Amino acid sequence: MSTKKISISGAGLVGSLLAIYFGKKGHEVSVYERRPDMRKTTIDGGRSINLALSNRGWKALEAVGAGENIRKMAIPMYRRVMHDREGKLTFQPYGKDGEAIYSVSRGGLNARLMELAEEAGNVHFHFDEKCTEVDLDKGEVTFENYLSGEESKVQADMIFGADGAFSAVRAVMQKTDRFNYSQEFIEHGYKELSIPPGPEGKHQLEREALHIWPRGNYMLIALPNPDGSFTCTLFFPFEGNPSFAMLDTTEKAREFFQQEFGDALDLMPHFDEEWKENPTSSLVIIRCYPWVSDSKKVTLIGDASHAIVPFYGQGMNSGFEDCTVLNDLMVQYGDDWDTILQKFQESRKPDADAIADLAMRNFVEMRDLTGDPRFLLQKKVEKHFHEKHPELWTPLYSMVTFSHIRYSVALAEGKKQDAIMDKVMALPGIEDKWDSPEVEQLILELLQK
Ligand SMILES: Cc1cc2nc3c(=O)[nH]c(=O)nc-3n(C[C@H](O)[C@H](O)[C@H](O)COP(=O)(O)OP(=O)(O)OC[C@H]3O[C@@H](n4cnc5c(N)ncnc54)[C@H](O)[C@@H]3O)c2cc1C
Repeated sequence: MSTKKISISGAGLVGSLLAIYFGKKGHEVSVYERRPDMRKTTIDGGRSINLALSNRGWKALEAVGAGENIRKMAIPMYRRVMHDREGKLTFQPYGKDGEAIYSVSRGGLNARLMELAEEAGNVHFHFDEKCTEVDLDKGEVTFENYLSGEESKVQADMIFGADGAFSAVRAVMQKTDRFNYSQEFIEHGYKELSIPPGPEGKHQLEREALHIWPRGNYMLIALPNPDGSFTCTLFFPFEGNPSFAMLDTTEKAREFFQQEFGDALDLMPHFDEEWKENPTSSLVIIRCYPWVSDSKKVTLIGDASHAIVPFYGQGMNSGFEDCTVLNDLMVQYGDDWDTILQKFQESRKPDADAIADLAMRNFVEMRDLTGDPRFLLQKKVEKHFHEKHPELWTPLYSMVTFSHIRYSVALAEGKKQDAIMDKVMALPGIEDKWDSPEVEQLILELLQK
């Protein structure tokens, strides 16, 4: 493989991981990031302080030897713990025994990936450099330095736009002929709050779990941090009743929390300041195509090409999986970059679309259905059948989270499973016979149709 000069715009999670992949292959890599070096300044998580990392993400990290290191800073979450309005808890395991999703710090993970990229030897990071223009044919990017105001032009054999949902690289591609693009802000936004550590730095809720307060059209969630705290996120409509617009004073917000999330509020001594000071952020779904410019010199990756809502915990995981797929193609096609990039976008686009749909679907499940006893019963039926016939049935959540099955295949399979479960749940007295041979037989028959 010949050495290429590669320029990456954006040193976020995906840009930094991509730099490791290219660096390890001996390419000459420059990464330009508009923010200061997060390793030297106070970490500005920006969007969500911690993230759920699952199998697709781990695979991409392990392939560059980063898995063990990151695992040290991750907390396994083995199950969902649902809190009702009275503070009563119900539980739902995420997968089979021992299967977990992992809470990791966004800033910690990003910083570690930058270090590993630099250790790869031929990767250089440039901070405070904002991409302002791209010449798609020449393969030239213009950066403006935030501190000096100076402009510089960088020529490269290949440019990767890993600059997130509001990508500057994509903005240039959007102006080209036949570039499809859609951007949808959902009606919900989010606000982060926190539960600090208890006495002796202990977690005040079950540590190895993701906590959910499902309330129909909205929800609060909490993920554990290693310091004993939890980061909580309220996903809530911007307008309507109830909404952020309605809770326009801390008193109103506090009263609402008292009513809806009383057990969480009891553990939030900084609620008033956080409600007032933390931003209310929006959530966007971005779809676009093609991801590769006609010149084949510029490629979009990660959120720049497919930003999704966070409800399946798959945005970063899918961006990391982009790196796995690209790496597999590099191994297969060596120096034939036209083929590598063409196959990358063709194979990845259906999966990006599928996870965008799955993520919206999981929002309904999390905020509404996890509080519904019939839904929990359905999950029990599925789990029971899966344990008896693992080769015939993998629950959708497990396909997305614990496997490497393509997202598009998981979505199609999930739709088939839904149709079957509709019939199973319609059986009279299903509550009493959910684990009976009759139910098992019915599922077997329906699977054969
Ligand atoms: C509330 C919330 C919770 C989430 N939870 C999860 C989760 O649990 N699990 C999960 O897998 N995903 C989650 N995600 C999604 C995840 O954050 C994103 O998918 C992931 O950060 C995408 O990585 P990226 O590198 O493509 O983009 P980003 O992380 O956005 O990185 C882009 C980088 O580019 C830089 N940049 C932007 N513009 C320019 C420019 N013009 N010039 C130079 N640099 C630029 C930015 O400063 C940034 O550093 C969540 C997202 C949100 C909003």
